[in-house]
Amino acid sequence: IPLERIRNFSIIAHVDHGKSTLADRLLEFTGAIKKTSGQNQVLDKLQVEKERGITVKAQSASLIYIYQGEQYLLNLIDTPGHVDFSNEVSRSLSACQGVILLVDANDGVQAQTVANFYLAFGNDLLIIPVLNKIDLKNADPERVCGQLKTLFDIDPKDVLKISAKQGIGIECVLDAIIERLPPPNAVRGGKFRALVFDSWYDKYRGALSLMYIKDGEVRIGDSVASCHTKKTYEVRGLSVLRPNEESVDKLVAGQIGLVGCNMRSSQESCIGDTLHKTHEEVEPLQGFKPARPMVFAGIYPMDQSQHVHLRGAIDKLVLNDSAVTVNIDSSPALGQGWRLGFLGLLHLEVFSQRLVQEYGADPILTAPSVTYKVILKPTKKIIEDKNDTLFVNNPALFPDHLQIKECHEPMVSGTIITPDSYLGSIISLCMERRGVQKSATNIDNERVMLVYDLPLSEVVLDFHDTLKTISSGYASFDYEDMGYQFSSLVKMNILLNGTAVDELSVIMHSSRVQTMGRKLVLKLRDIIPRQMVQIAIQATVNGKVIARETLKAYRKDVTAKLYGGDVTRRMKLLAQQAAGKKKMRMVANISLPRETFIDVLKK
Ligand code: GDP
Ligand code: MG
Repeated sequence: IPLERIRNFSIIAHVDHGKSTLADRLLEFTGAIKKTSGQNQVLDKLQVEKERGITVKAQSASLIYIYQGEQYLLNLIDTPGHVDFSNEVSRSLSACQGVILLVDANDGVQAQTVANFYLAFGNDLLIIPVLNKIDLKNADPERVCGQLKTLFDIDPKDVLKISAKQGIGIECVLDAIIERLPPPNAVRGGKFRALVFDSWYDKYRGALSLMYIKDGEVRIGDSVASCHTKKTYEVRGLSVLRPNEESVDKLVAGQIGLVGCNMRSSQESCIGDTLHKTHEEVEPLQGFKPARPMVFAGIYPMDQSQHVHLRGAIDKLVLNDSAVTVNIDSSPALGQGWRLGFLGLLHLEVFSQRLVQEYGADPILTAPSVTYKVILKPTKKIIEDKNDTLFVNNPALFPDHLQIKECHEPMVSGTIITPDSYLGSIISLCMERRGVQKSATNIDNERVMLVYDLPLSEVVLDFHDTLKTISSGYASFDYEDMGYQFSSLVKMNILLNGTAVDELSVIMHSSRVQTMGRKLVLKLRDIIPRQMVQIAIQATVNGKVIARETLKAYRKDVTAKLYGGDVTRRMKLLAQQAAGKKKMRMVANISLPRETFIDVLKK
């Protein structure tokens, strides 16, 4: 297929606006999948995606569409909509010339619509605005067109109106892709250059790389090299995704395809890398800004015998999720483990769920923390090596308050879009989270867009959930990084029977000490099961006790009170007790459920 008849595009939208459904319809319409397959969201392959109904990984598919008697190749890249996964979106965009900006005709423009629009706009991509769900009774396409006009200066005449669910207007979308988007800016005759924009691990074939062929062509048997690692490989397999893998002999400029070249280890396939032919000099393609992790947590095996298994699982999963950073870590209570960096809390949760579901791992995660900047008081040693600034993302490593000169914390600029009836409670929430309002704009006569500066630590844990709750699900939220700001921070220690458990310590703003101290000890009293001994739970800051609770001792045999009772009930309780024990971890001579470290910070 000649270049002029290739289009590479992505669908971007706020979560739940119908990207995956539209992708399904496009696949059906072009005959890539059968209409009757009855399988929803074909591109959402991961178990966690099916369970949570969200798209985590961007997926691709190549479609053949006949337009005015000519065959066109359309490469579709489905993207996730959640803020935590916006690096997946920007990676996908680097292989595209245009995007479909999908907006729910009932919900209207939402926070991620705004973020995604600017991502595409900033990458000089053509934007096809499409309103979805026009079949809904409450759909109001006129109002949403007005929002698009106000916010992005989009002409209502350019907006397509469809129902992905009922298959209305799908053909117009395909035609618009061909008519409005340019073909890829690639060179068929040139030297082979391909941008690796995704990769995953296959048990039999090693690491597979999804690449956009910018120039030239590649065939099975060719020898290719990585600009990043300089290593060379023989091309063993090439395929296109439609959406299932179909083997091909060669791939040419403009195409998106999968290459397998027997990369043994996960680290060899680098996202953002350029592949070229061995012995040919090429200029590397522009890679991606590496995603910067915002939230860090320790990860440990349930017991050290599982250390090797967990390491293997993390290695493989990181290949498929390059936004995660991994560093070796150890903790007095939990032993050898790793400190992982994530883009947000949902990212962390999805990662650990995938470790369990896809790799059978059974890890303990510690409470997440952002990276604080600590400037130390001058000491003789510091004057000598001038190293007075620490970046701390592990509360256990937070210096003693006597050593600290000042602290800084990471800030974000948050965008909230909400119906104005929830304005009051949302503004209180932002104030409670130490937010500073930057602007408030009416985007139509009943919706407002708020911009707030907020500390990242106040946002990562449950801000999004709380916002959803207080707005009955109507408000949406997105944020971007804004660097560091001076702040008054302290470390709160948690003591169990007088022993400080570093893994439970938290860094917080000094204004929070009283309320958080109470909350933490109460929460721990609820989470920790009663044991043979009484447990004193204390929260301290700079050596002063802020809050204290006592957990009473408990009798050992949970079935004792069922004496003479039903045997099956007794067996069941004993089994539960045994299972409960298995998930416990001894810390300071107390067994803690493995979720303790992460649950303690949740509301
Ligand atoms: P994504 O998060 O953007 O990928 O959204 P999904 O494709 O998973 O769709 C979210 C929900 O909206 C699903 O329950 C779909 O069935 C529903 N949906 C998608 N398109 C339409 C539509 O055109 N009309 C209606 N009524 N529902 C739709
Ligand atoms: Mg989806």
